[in-house]
Amino acid sequence: MISRSLCRARDLAAHLNVNEHLVSRVMDQYPARINAYALGLIAGGSRAVFRQLVPDPAELEETSLADADPLCEQKQSPVPGIVHRYPDRVLFLVSGQCAVYCRHCMRKREVGGRAPVSPETIEAGLDYIARTPGVKEVILSGGDPLMLEDDRLFSILARIRSIRHVECLRIHTRMPGMLPRRITLDLARGLARFHPLFVNIQFNHPDELTPAARSACALLADAGIPLGSQTVLLAGVNDSPAIMTDLMRKLLTARIRPYYLHHPDPIRGTAHFRVPAKVGLSVIESLRGRIGGMGIPQYMIDLPGGGGKVPLLPEHVIKRSEKELIVYNFENKIYTYPL
Ligand SMILES: *Cc1c(COP(=O)(O)O)cnc(C)c1O
Ligand code: SF4
Repeated sequence: MISRSLCRARDLAAHLNVNEHLVSRVMDQYPARINAYALGLIAGGSRAVFRQLVPDPAELEETSLADADPLCEQKQSPVPGIVHRYPDRVLFLVSGQCAVYCRHCMRKREVGGRAPVSPETIEAGLDYIARTPGVKEVILSGGDPLMLEDDRLFSILARIRSIRHVECLRIHTRMPGMLPRRITLDLARGLARFHPLFVNIQFNHPDELTPAARSACALLADAGIPLGSQTVLLAGVNDSPAIMTDLMRKLLTARIRPYYLHHPDPIRGTAHFRVPAKVGLSVIESLRGRIGGMGIPQYMIDLPGGGGKVPLLPEHVIKRSEKELIVYNFENKIYTYPL
């Protein structure tokens, strides 16, 4: 299924209305992969998927702000493949490959390498987790962890589960939306052996919630796996209250709880996706009036220098004194709240 992917500039130009030479220049820097399913979304007319997956010459424009690794993941990596920023949890990067290569990827500097993550690197990661008792949660990330074969994935999960101090497991993936056939009953049942296990899925646009994607999510949810979404705010893809409301509603109906809306990080090669923070704030504010709290993600910025994620909230307090707060509500009406 993944083998039928467009990975070369010539193939991309043959299937999509793009200039082979320009695409090829971008691909000298950053890999591309559009699998047959994702190509179907684009062929079906999704501009949002096109923009996320098709190499764009804008990726080669540098800005002084942008860095290849502004979040200092490399500095916070005690052993290769582990990012340990918060005391209680680690990212464990178990695969460098993905079902598609997103143009906005925060790890676009490193995904898409030809070699799989080596068994030695996995062993070193497992060893680090085992000898670091503060680690209560292990988040498999990458790349996409679901690029591993089931057996390999289950054996890694079993090894982590055998470490007494690890309480929760989490998998970060884009598979349900970008290669739904990867989610099988065997996978869902296999994952369920490792509960508590959470799956967070990147969904950025309502076009991605096709019937196939919804069935994939249902298989996971039926296995008792709590599903969350991580959406990246992206210029020209989802930077509007209407699109975001539609997306959050569709996520809820697919039994996915919106978790984070990520402000786009200043990653080199992604300047054309960046939006001002006020756009994200106004999206969150308009969600507040249109959709129940279950459908409202936290809007997160990831601090440069490895400072971690911090939520941004629209400010509803206009004025505060010892005695009262002056607050406006979702209809822009003003209220006084006695303290
Ligand atoms: C985002 C992130 C996590 C997970 O953070 P949550 O807020 O728990 O989702 C963990 N480690 C690193 C390095 C991260 O960037
Ligand atoms: S699936 Fe995730 S890790 Fe892979 S390219 Fe897309 S954003 Fe990056």
